[in-house]
Amino acid sequence: MHDRWKHLRKNLFRSVEPRVELVLTSQPVGRFKKLCTTETAPGYTARASHESKGTTKDDIRLNKFLIKRGHHTPLEAVCFTFRVYGITKSLQNQWVRHRIGVGWTYRSTRNISADQNEFVYCTYDYIDDRLRTMALLREDEESAKEAIARFERKRELGATKQDSRKIMPVFWNTPCYFYCNASSLRYLFSLRLEKDAEWEIRRMSRIMWEIVIKETPSLFEDFTNLARRED
Ligand SMILES: Cc1cc2nc3c(=O)[nH]c(=O)nc-3n(C[C@H](O)[C@H](O)[C@H](O)COP(=O)(O)OP(=O)(O)OC[C@H]3O[C@@H](n4cnc5c(N)ncnc54)[C@H](O)[C@@H]3O)c2cc1C
Repeated sequence: MHDRWKHLRKNLFRSVEPRVELVLTSQPVGRFKKLCTTETAPGYTARASHESKGTTKDDIRLNKFLIKRGHHTPLEAVCFTFRVYGITKSLQNQWVRHRIGVGWTYRSTRNISADQNEFVYCTYDYIDDRLRTMALLREDEESAKEAIARFERKRELGATKQDSRKIMPVFWNTPCYFYCNASSLRYLFSLRLEKDAEWEIRRMSRIMWEIVIKETPSLFEDFTNLARRED
């Protein structure tokens, strides 16, 4: 993604950008520390089926073989927890449609007053004209300011936090922790790195992929072309 208008978003009202951090991954413990690593755990544990033995390098090769053959259960040995910041409510709505091997803890605007909300503005990458992009961003900025003002008015009139937040535009920032295993993350990538996925969930998936490809390359390297494609 080019994101050529990023600089125009910088000073907009409560503008935030996406940020994904890896909080933790699965680690071998006890005697298994000598036998496998986070990355080799799928191949290593899959050896139970043939009672075979191999080196760390063999286990990495086995990871790739398991992926190719669709034997994905051993990939569940590796779990990730991410902190995700700078994503909209509309992204959240798409993301939580994934049901298997995934979970979230979201910042709740029932508990935290929505007048604290920040906003994730559109990239408008498909617009060539700078002035038109600025005009679009100004429209969004006005909605964000208006929403905060209306929220405060509703509160003054006696509405609860949860009822007052209902006038928020869907581009408010909804930070979360995301829990998933490597098999489910691969499934997410297979759908959400694709060109026809919505741009924001695709952008987040790309950032996430750039993290896990460094941590456990053999589990995600077959998505390289999809993740790095510029279009
Ligand atoms: C490009 C794109 C466009 C989309 N557009 C729309 C749209 O317009 N409207 C809309 O409503 N949604 C849309 N979706 C969401 C889509 O329909 C799925 O809800 C979402 O991608 C999650 O996929 P899933 O159910 O396969 O994933 P998961 O829930 O993680 O499930 C993974 C797999 O487990 C199996 N599974 C899970 N639950 C069951 C079950 N109860 N019974 C049997 N098997 C099960 C299935 O094989 C499933 O593929 C879109 C998704 C994409 C990627």
